[in-house]
Amino acid sequence: KAKELGRNMFQYYSAEMNSTVTDRLELLNRLRQAIPNDELVLHYQPKLNLASGEIIGVEALIRWNSPHSGLVSPGAFIPLAEETGLIIPIGEWVLQTACRRNRAWQDAGYPPVVISVNLSPRQLARGDIVQQVERVLAETGLDAQWLELEITESVMATDVEKSFAMLTELRAMGVRISLDDFGTGYSSLSYLKRFPVDTLKIDQSFVRDIAIDGNSAAIVRAIVSLGHNLNLNVLAEGIETAEQSALLRQNGCNEGQGYLISRPVPEQDFLKLLNR
Ligand code: C2E
Ligand code: MG
Ligand code: MG
Ligand code: MG
Repeated sequence: KAKELGRNMFQYYSAEMNSTVTDRLELLNRLRQAIPNDELVLHYQPKLNLASGEIIGVEALIRWNSPHSGLVSPGAFIPLAEETGLIIPIGEWVLQTACRRNRAWQDAGYPPVVISVNLSPRQLARGDIVQQVERVLAETGLDAQWLELEITESVMATDVEKSFAMLTELRAMGVRISLDDFGTGYSSLSYLKRFPVDTLKIDQSFVRDIAIDGNSAAIVRAIVSLGHNLNLNVLAEGIETAEQSALLRQNGCNEGQGYLISRPVPEQDFLKLLNR
């Protein structure tokens, strides 16, 4: 009986594993075609000064318009792209497109904004990000001051000295650096003291609970004062309610991003917001 059960379980798991491997391979093959087939798109989410309501920047967020599955969110394909190295061409496409669009908006007379691009640790680990950014800025004609790179704390955990050197060079070029999902990762405060960074982005998990959980509110307050004491900008992500926005401002956080203000939207919708 037990043997029978064991065999059935083995079959069950092996069938499941096979289908998972097949699914991943199919996804990977389709994803490989996404750039040549022009299926990747950027959506844009504004960053606001919470007090004045003024748009101070915009984050470019990738989506995959797959003929097979419709509009796919990054959570469903970025991890696979990171594991397989496909993130390198995809990341370069994002950087190129974000810079080219931002320059085009400026040329069309829209108020200039800083555009933020998310970098995966792997793009930094390759070691040629400085050259890549230089080349993309030259090709697109975007001034470095209008580009920000969002990195997570995990880059500090990989090759600290190399990351420091590259980020320092990027900042010397005039590119801004932002620490994304701050508070959730490997955060060593001693790194932060000398880390070449302009902005801390308070992770949305703290913002989500700010009105209902005293610990989250205390963490937000601590990040805000830490950031400001280190002369950094502090921005809250994931603001969904007016109450959260008010509490953030009360706690000294004057920059934010979230569904309350706008979801990430296609370019034309973002330009309408920018024009207001
Ligand atoms: P992230 O950079 O931390 O971006 C914030 C995520 O939270 C985005 O999800 C955004 O749509 C979502 N969000 C914004 N406001 C709210 C809100 O008020 N409530 C809630 N619940 N969510 C909100 P998205 O677009 O699905 O992106 C997820 C993650 O995928 C990003 O997290 C980023 O780590 C990664 N990602 C997105 N685009 C790129 C890219 O071009 N390159 C790389 N390497 N990663 C990317
Ligand atoms: Mg981000
Ligand atoms: Mg984030
Ligand atoms: Mg995130």
